[in-house]
Amino acid sequence: MKIFNKISELRDYVKERRKESKSIALVPTMGYLHQGHLTLMKKAKEDTDIVIASIFVNPTQFGPTEDYEAYPRDLERDVNLAKEVGVDIMFAPETEEIYLKDELTTVTVDSLNERLCGASRPGHFDGVCTIVSKLFNILNPDQAYFGQKDAQQVLIIKKMVDDLNFDIEIVTVPIVREEDGLAMSSRNKYLNKEERKAALVLYSSLKLAKKLIASGERNANLIKEEMISLINQEDLAEIDYVKIVKQSNLEEINEIEGQILIALAVYIGQTRLIDNLMLEVEK
Ligand code: AMP
Repeated sequence: MKIFNKISELRDYVKERRKESKSIALVPTMGYLHQGHLTLMKKAKEDTDIVIASIFVNPTQFGPTEDYEAYPRDLERDVNLAKEVGVDIMFAPETEEIYLKDELTTVTVDSLNERLCGASRPGHFDGVCTIVSKLFNILNPDQAYFGQKDAQQVLIIKKMVDDLNFDIEIVTVPIVREEDGLAMSSRNKYLNKEERKAALVLYSSLKLAKKLIASGERNANLIKEEMISLINQEDLAEIDYVKIVKQSNLEEINEIEGQILIALAVYIGQTRLIDNLMLEVEK
């Protein structure tokens, strides 16, 4: 595996590989890799010739009171894990390599960026779209891989790709979970033993929603109330949001029907965790 931290060197190398008409996949990450990330990389390796994984804790997608400084980082560990799943190139730039001091341009996907996580994290998705656009422009991959764990991010990136005419296929991978159901996340590292147990309440609430829908319940507000009441039984949990929305535009719905997304963000102690469930429901 080759490791680059300079854009120009990476570009030169990728240009050479392109001459062999190789297909190129990009897997953008913030590092501290877990099986969720590695599943994206493995899938990319199955589908394409060359897999580039980027490791960059992107400062512009963190709010001023969020965990940018504390975010777990371990490049050596990431390099070894990525090598094992066949990643060909790792791009791990310093912040100064990516952001010039006098940048004036950001990428915004309106309205979708105000819903769900966007409502609690103003500016977050502008930061995400800007870094992903930069990576797309630097590498011009054929495919880019994203996890459904960040369902809103996937929707926003797909819209950005359409709106800005990026010639890149967005491939998505289902949520990878720990054995007990907790969605894998680099932020799970923050959880102490008690919090780790409490964090299961996110998945439990999604399972409850699924069960209610399977038993015929179609009232979205009632399902949300049941989820909220279950989460509130957990002392260490504090809800940021629980929402049931249309997959296509993230608008809240009253009646469960069609392609829906049940999404939630919950603080477990100081750690904000997200999870979601996508369902196709008949009336
Ligand atoms: P991050 O490093 O958290 O920015 O995540 C990088 C990519 O990995 C994003 O596309 C995430 O959606 C994806 N990802 C993170 N956790 C998981 C997971 N548990 N299952 C599937 N994909 C994930």
